Amino acid sequence: MKYLITIALILLTCSLAAFDELSLEHFSGKTAFVNDFPFLETASGAQYRLLLAPQNLLDSLGIAFEEDADLEVSGWLKGTLLLVKELKIADRTFSLRDATQKDLYTHQSDRTVDPDTCISCWLCIRQCPVEAISRKNGKARIDPALCIDCGICIEGHARFKGCPVNAIE
Ligand code: SF4
Ligand code: SF4
Repeated sequence: MKYLITIALILLTCSLAAFDELSLEHFSGKTAFVNDFPFLETASGAQYRLLLAPQNLLDSLGIAFEEDADLEVSGWLKGTLLLVKELKIADRTFSLRDATQKDLYTHQSDRTVDPDTCISCWLCIRQCPVEAISRKNGKARIDPALCIDCGICIEGHARFKGCPVNAIE
C-alpha cells in the first residue's frame, strides 16, 4: 500500500521528455554541488543540474569541478536540467555532444537494475533524461552505452524521489 501511494504521487509529476526539440542555450555562473552532483549556479541564484557523462569519461577528459569555480556551459535546458554540449572550466573548453545531441565519446556506465528488487513501476523510464532505461523481461534495464550517470533514477530530481524500492545501483 505504501508503495502504491508513493507511486500515485510520483505519477502526478511530469516525466522528462527528450531534449531534442529544444534550442541550444548558453549559461555562465559558478559551480555548485547538491548531493555531490555538479550544478551551474547563475548570478541570479538559479541552479541547473548538469547532465554530463559517466565519471570515468569525465576523468579521462580531465574534466574536474570545484565548488564556486567559474563555469560556462552551452546546452539544452529542460526545467532545471541542463544537457551539456560544451563547457568551459578554468579556461579549458570541453565538448561532450555535437549539435544533434549525439555523444562525441563512447562510454559505459556501470548503473544496473536488480531485477529481483524491481517492481516494474516504470517511473525510472519516465524520468531518465536520455531514455537510457527500457523494459526487458518485465523489468527495467539500463543501457550502459546511453546512461550518462546523472543519478536521477537513484537520487531523484524535483518531486521524483528516485526508484521507490532502491532497485538501481
Ligand atoms: S528500477 Fe525502480 S523505478 Fe525502475 S521500474 Fe524498477 S522499481 Fe520502478
Ligand atoms: S543514471 Fe539513471 S536516469 Fe541518469 S542517465 Fe543513467 S539510467 Fe538515466
